[in-house]
Amino acid sequence: MKGGIDNIIICGAGPSGLILGLLLAKAGIRVQILDAASSVNTNPRASHYGPPAVYELQRAGVIEEVAAQGFRPDGVSWRRLDGSCITKIDTKDVPVEKKIVCLPLDQLMKILLRHIEAQPSAEVLWSHKVVGLSDGEERATVDVETPEGTKTLEATYVVGCDGATSTIRRQLFGDAFPGRTWDEQIVATNTYYDMSPYNWQDSNFIVHPEHCYMVAKIQNDGLLRITYLEKAGLSREEYLERQPEKFKTFLPGHPDPDKYKIVNFSPYKIHQRCAEKFRVGRFLLAADAAHLCNPFGGLGLTGGMVDVGNLYDCLYGIHSGQADDSILDKYDEIRRQKYRDFIDPISSDNLRRLLYISEEEIEKDEFYNLVKRAEVDEEFSKTLQLGIDIIREDFTQYYKKPTVEAAAKDIPTSLPAPTAVVSGEA
Ligand SMILES: Cc1cc2nc3c(=O)[nH]c(=O)nc-3n(C[C@H](O)[C@H](O)[C@H](O)COP(=O)(O)OP(=O)(O)OC[C@H]3O[C@@H](n4cnc5c(N)ncnc54)[C@H](O)[C@@H]3O)c2cc1C
Repeated sequence: MKGGIDNIIICGAGPSGLILGLLLAKAGIRVQILDAASSVNTNPRASHYGPPAVYELQRAGVIEEVAAQGFRPDGVSWRRLDGSCITKIDTKDVPVEKKIVCLPLDQLMKILLRHIEAQPSAEVLWSHKVVGLSDGEERATVDVETPEGTKTLEATYVVGCDGATSTIRRQLFGDAFPGRTWDEQIVATNTYYDMSPYNWQDSNFIVHPEHCYMVAKIQNDGLLRITYLEKAGLSREEYLERQPEKFKTFLPGHPDPDKYKIVNFSPYKIHQRCAEKFRVGRFLLAADAAHLCNPFGGLGLTGGMVDVGNLYDCLYGIHSGQADDSILDKYDEIRRQKYRDFIDPISSDNLRRLLYISEEEIEKDEFYNLVKRAEVDEEFSKTLQLGIDIIREDFTQYYKKPTVEAAAKDIPTSLPAPTAVVSGEA
C-alpha cells in the first residue's frame, strides 16, 4: 500500500467523528465528515468525560470552552437504596486540568462543530448517508446517498465513526459484532428534581438488585441525569407508564410526578461488543462503531475519544512521513487489546457491583475497599482516579526515526505532543 495522505473521509458526525475531524483539520489534513442525519443528535447520552477524554479534548483545543459551559463534578458516591453512603471519592484530589468534565453530549457536539467550521480544510456534510464502499490500491471509495442523488466519494482512508449500527462495520463484517447484550435494559432521563435537601455528591450510584440507578448533576442549572435499570423487552409506552412508580420507589424523598420535571426520556439496550478488526485495508473503525460498553462509569465515549486521538497520531505520522501505513495495524491491535483488557472488564464490573444483594458482597468488594482507602489517603485517591489513563497509548513511539524530509515538514505546534501513559492501580 502506498504512503502519504491526500484526504480522509469520516463517516459519522457524532462526537468521535467530530473530534477526529477537528484534530486532522488543525494539522492541515483535508477531511470530509459525512452524516446520514440532518443535524446533531439530541437524545440523552454521554455527559461525563474521564481523564483520558479530557486529554483529547485539550489537544482538540476545546477543553476550556467545554469546562466553562459545563462543570467539573465534585465527586462520586456509591449508596444503598435508603441513601446511606457506602463510600465516596472526591475529585479535589486530582489536578484540575485532569479532572473529569461534564457537559451534555449535544452541547459538546455544538462546540466541536463551531470549531470545525472555522477550519478551511474540513467540511461537514449532513444528510449524506454512506451506503456502500470499495477498497483500492491507492484510494478507498464510499457510495453516499444525498438529497441531490447518489454520489461516490474517495479518500486515502475512510474512518467509520458511524456509531453502534455502523454501516462501515457491517459492510466489512456483515452482522458479526462479537460480544453480548445484557439481560437488563436501562432508561436514561434528563430530569429536574431538587436534590439539595439530601447533600449527595454531584454523581451518585445506588446499589440494589432491582432498583439500581445513577443520579448525576449534568448542567449548572441543576438538570440531572437519572438512569435506571429496567426489565428488558417492554415498549417505550410501557417504560413510560412504569416510570412514576420507579421514581417514587427509589429517589430520595419518594416524589410524586408534580415534584420533578422530565425533559428527556430514552430506553436503551446495553451491550459489551467489539469488532473483529478495527482496520481492513484503507477502512478503519473507531468509538461505538468499533466497540460498545454499558454506560455506568462513562467509558463508552471516553474510550471512543482515546481511539480517535490515537488514530489522529497514526494518520498524522503517515501524513508527515514519520510513520508508514503499518502503524494502522498497530492501531487495530492495541485498541482492541485496550478494550479487551480494560474497557470491557471495568465497565462490566461497574454495573455488576451495582446489582449486589447483600451487605456481605458490598463489604468484600475489592473496588469499594479501594475507594474507602482513597477516602483517607489523598495520594492514593489521585492514583485511583487517574488509573483509567491505562486505556491510553502513545502511538508516536511507533513512529520511524524522523527523516530529513519529515523534520523539514511543518509539524503543527497548536497540538501538544502526546505525553506518556499515566497508569495506576485501579
Ligand atoms: C444513556 C447513555 C449515557 C452515556 N453516558 C456516557 C458518559 O457519560 N460518558 C461516556 O464516555 N459515554 C457515555 N455514553 C456512550 C456515548 O454516548 C457513546 O459512546 C457515543 O455517543 C458514541 O459516539 P460515536 O461518535 O462513536 O457514535 P454516535 O454518537 O452514535 O454517532 C454516530 C453518527 O454516525 C451517523 N451515521 C450512522 N450511520 C451512518 C451512515 N451510514 N452514513 C453517515 N452517517 C451515519 C449518525 O447519524 C451519528 O450522527 C452513554 C451512552 C448512553 C446511551
